[in-house]
Amino acid sequence: FEPGWYRVITCEYDRVPDRDEPATFSWLRSSLRKIAGTDFGMHSPRWVSRFGDAARQAERYRAGRVLLAGDAAHIHFPAGGQGLNTGVQD
Ligand SMILES: Cc1cc2nc3c(=O)[nH]c(=O)nc-3n(C[C@H](O)[C@H](O)[C@H](O)COP(=O)(O)OP(=O)(O)OC[C@H]3O[C@@H](n4cnc5c(N)ncnc54)[C@H](O)[C@@H]3O)c2cc1C
Repeated sequence: FEPGWYRVITCEYDRVPDRDEPATFSWLRSSLRKIAGTDFGMHSPRWVSRFGDAARQAERYRAGRVLLAGDAAHIHFPAGGQGLNTGVQD
């Protein structure tokens, strides 16, 4: 973003934390060491966060005469590009 500042993103398919588990710098450091073998001496983070697939699904799509459809019924990670299409088919 500017000299001396970097964005670091890691992805571990075999170590997926719980959705509610807070993102910490020590987690990111351990993740980077595991993947890259070094943390590159990173320090003093401005911001640490975590993202996942953002998937959610309602337990029921119908309660009597009330129907759920679209994002209210199910959401997906937008990069999949299927949310609108799936909602229209609902
Ligand atoms: C960045 C991004 C990229 C995406 N790319 C794609 C893609 O390429 N292909 C694809 O298929 N899908 C894509 N999606 C997903 C798609 O946009 C959604 O799945 C779709 O728009 C959901 O439609 P919906 O009508 O269910 O909900 P929404 O479009 O969210 O409509 C809900 C409406 O209800 C209104 N509302 C909320 N509360 C109230 C209230 N209390 N009273 C009255 N009105 C209310 C809201 O203002 C809104 O207008 C993308 C989504 C995002 C965020």
